[in-house]
Amino acid sequence: MSGQRSRKQVKKPDWQTGIAKERIKTLLAQAELNSKNPAYSRRYVELLRKIAMRYTIRLPKSIKRRFCKNCNSFFTSENSSVRTSPKQQAVIVTCKNCGSVQRFPYRKEKA
Ligand SMILES: [Zn+2]
Repeated sequence: MSGQRSRKQVKKPDWQTGIAKERIKTLLAQAELNSKNPAYSRRYVELLRKIAMRYTIRLPKSIKRRFCKNCNSFFTSENSSVRTSPKQQAVIVTCKNCGSVQRFPYRKEKA
């Protein structure tokens, strides 16, 4: 039966999110492989983010840190600078490509 359509996004079935997660991993690896070629790596990052959005997958921090949210550049040691700020309790990543600054707060791990 059809008819009722909720405005809320329906959660995708697990097997689909599973495939999507695999794809994200592959795309990240591709971006890394092509990190010397920004035009390519950016494309992979773009795709990866699109998939994550479509399947409402929250990217783990370890992945989020790898690229620029603003211009989709895959970070390398050349196009980004990473600093830690003890004051802000965060890792500050500056994208040298577009100049955007991203903060990744780190949580104290309790022993
Ligand atoms: Zn950027």
